[in-house]
Amino acid sequence: MPEDTIIKSEAAAKAANMVDYAATYDSFRWEDARREIDGLPGGHLNIAYEAIERHVAAGHGAQVALRWIAKSGERTDYTYLELSQLTNRFANVLRSHGIEKGARVYSLLGRTPDLYIAALGTLKAGCVFCPLFSAFGPEPIRARMEIGGANVLITTARLYKRKVSALRDLLPDLRHVFLSDGMAEGTDQLSPLMEAASPEFTAEPMHPEDTALLHFTSGTTGKPKGVVHVHDAVVAHHMTGRLALDLRPGNTYWCTADPGWVTGTSYGIIAPLSNRVTMIIDEAEFDVARWYDILDRESVNVWYTAPTAIRMLMKAGVEATKGHDFSSLRFMASVGEPLNPEAVIWGNDVFGMPFHDNWWQTETGGIMIANFAAMDVRPGSMGKPLPGIRAGIVEVTEDGLCEVTKPLAIGELALRPGWPSMMRGYLHENARYEKCFRDGWYLTGDLAMRDSDGYFWFVGRSNDLIKSAGHLIGPFEVESALMEHEAVAEVAVIGVPDETAGERVKAFVGLKPGYAPTEELMLELSGHARKRLGPAVAPKEIAFRKNLPKTRSGKIMRRLLRARELGLPEGDISTLESDEQ
Ligand code: ATP
Ligand code: MG
Repeated sequence: MPEDTIIKSEAAAKAANMVDYAATYDSFRWEDARREIDGLPGGHLNIAYEAIERHVAAGHGAQVALRWIAKSGERTDYTYLELSQLTNRFANVLRSHGIEKGARVYSLLGRTPDLYIAALGTLKAGCVFCPLFSAFGPEPIRARMEIGGANVLITTARLYKRKVSALRDLLPDLRHVFLSDGMAEGTDQLSPLMEAASPEFTAEPMHPEDTALLHFTSGTTGKPKGVVHVHDAVVAHHMTGRLALDLRPGNTYWCTADPGWVTGTSYGIIAPLSNRVTMIIDEAEFDVARWYDILDRESVNVWYTAPTAIRMLMKAGVEATKGHDFSSLRFMASVGEPLNPEAVIWGNDVFGMPFHDNWWQTETGGIMIANFAAMDVRPGSMGKPLPGIRAGIVEVTEDGLCEVTKPLAIGELALRPGWPSMMRGYLHENARYEKCFRDGWYLTGDLAMRDSDGYFWFVGRSNDLIKSAGHLIGPFEVESALMEHEAVAEVAVIGVPDETAGERVKAFVGLKPGYAPTEELMLELSGHARKRLGPAVAPKEIAFRKNLPKTRSGKIMRRLLRARELGLPEGDISTLESDEQ
């Protein structure tokens, strides 16, 4: 249930965007947003042009675009002008190998500058870019390259030898493999080609509806889908970056997401550059001390991260923040999973501002519902629809679809299509795509409710809803209640079959350091949940685990816990990461 807590947004007071947000909310038209980007003659445009070239043309070439922090801690800066020239060289390398507009260029790279240069150079050349997580194993790589008909792959010698070389025969469309370092048979080294290539290239003028990006979903609910996005999406990336993340030219901004999932591209490459910020890119994996160090030393102004990371910071305790100065931080946001109220409040205590939760999907291409800078935050709520986005709670019945307007009624979260970054299809899965639309709505597959002030509250994935003794129970509510307990670091809640109740609630709990998984603690957690939620909703069973099964984008895979509980096949686990009993 929605909490009564409201956190007055400090950021609001400082938000220059607040004024135009308030003024434009009702009258906002995507047509007007289109005027905020430059475009190219004849109604054409190119994402890479908006991200880089227009800033260089406007005299900002000397501003740092990317600051790369290598695993070793060494920093390297790339200005907008340097990024322009490097991406031009990359586009020329593609052209000189006969790779034309529309070709599919994949990357399998860690968060190194090459990844960003390849992404933007590919778009500049009018090719379709598809980033893969470098941690994927050979089979997920093969499947995704086959589905998308990969023509080109950029990777490293190490990754190529370990994961790709044995697959070459299975990928007949793959014409070229470029290695950003090292050598391997059947591949080309990128560095000498880049050096020989011209630093001049004119961004390919694209039709707004030309395909730009192919992104695979996280695979949280099943087999990942290949989602198609077009160049026009940049209009939404730009606007939502400004409205939902409060990005302002010249800011230092850190998005912690890997470009292997959509946040790392929409808000880890395109939106920040189109809004002319200086982006921090950290090559390393999550590490508490390193992250606090980056926020402090780099004077990060805007920080975009995810609930799993926030919960790990909370787990490490406030002591870990001691001695750090976060006074440059102006805005912090979170996405990817529901953000427990506890985490929002913790953010407010530690950083002096709440985490601003926002909701979207690979399919929507950009942020749809958000706690804006200009808005008071209700911890546990995902906020309100952005200007230009109409969201509703709907019920799908045999007669069709009806919008539920009663406050706090649970239904499926749906959106009226029409924003520029909406997917244009699931690759080779048209029936699945068509099924997402009904009576003029796009159905998200998530359950939510709206309160009387228009705030939206996430309830759970529609597959995760628990039906117990006539009650409908959203896992998020139960998880958030358990998160309030000082011993709990992370928690996942599922429904397991029960003879009398139909389903009963079971919780899997990971503990903070210093807490032992004892019978006594289990009883204490049970008692805490019953007090908070009532006996009908509180978990009947609690199991302790080292950590929870998560996707590589950090999402808890409840379906895997459920499948194991029921002794069913595990299904597609190509994106599974941490998973210790
Ligand atoms: P798949 O579609 O393959 O099962 P996925 O849905 O996890 O995977 P993504 O597109 O990466 O793939 O994630 C989008 C989903 O993440 C949303 O539909 C929603 O369930 C969840 N999500 C994202 N942001 C939030 C948020 N702020 N609050 C609650 N849930 C969120
Ligand atoms: Mg999904």
